[in-house]
Amino acid sequence: DWCDIEDIIGAALQRLRDSTQRYSLEINVAPDTPLLKADCVLLEQVLINLIDNAMKYSARGSEISITAEAEEKWVKVSVLDRGVGISEEDLGRVFDKFYRGQQPKYVSGTGLGLSICKGIIEAHGGIIWAERREGGGTIISFKIPTGGEEPIFSEKDGAK
Ligand code: ATP
Ligand code: MG
Repeated sequence: DWCDIEDIIGAALQRLRDSTQRYSLEINVAPDTPLLKADCVLLEQVLINLIDNAMKYSARGSEISITAEAEEKWVKVSVLDRGVGISEEDLGRVFDKFYRGQQPKYVSGTGLGLSICKGIIEAHGGIIWAERREGGGTIISFKIPTGGEEPIFSEKDGAK
């Protein structure tokens, strides 16, 4: 299906709405972001996992940003938080099945969320990675190919 990333972010936030109220959310989807040929339900699951982590590993009330933009024939989506961060040596391991990082205080989880995200993104021919954020916090980004010969723009933006 053709998925509108803005709708997918909206759907993920709707699913998490009881907890998102405790954070300061900022959503920034660039107006020329093309639709994606993808399984929209699976992409929603990726966003749910990433936003769930951003909340889980951050203090209440802190800022969480979700951005989406076109990058050549890809769409890049990032979830940024101001939480506890991921250590340099853990950056490559957090996508492993059952891997859980050191938590400053105990936070429950199974260590599967990010490995599921990686599986879904790679099944779409995409990549997912983690970065340490300057000043503290984490950025998890993924990008997947738009899938069309020509990028197809959302009708909402009035483009063809
Ligand atoms: P669950 O299966 O319930 O999602 P989990 O959150 O522990 O459990 P993952 O989502 O796979 O598992 O994340 C793996 C580990 O990566 C986490 O245990 C945590 O240490 C670290 N991590 C993931 N996202 C963040 C983040 N936004 N900030 C800090 N650490 C993170
Ligand atoms: Mg998780």
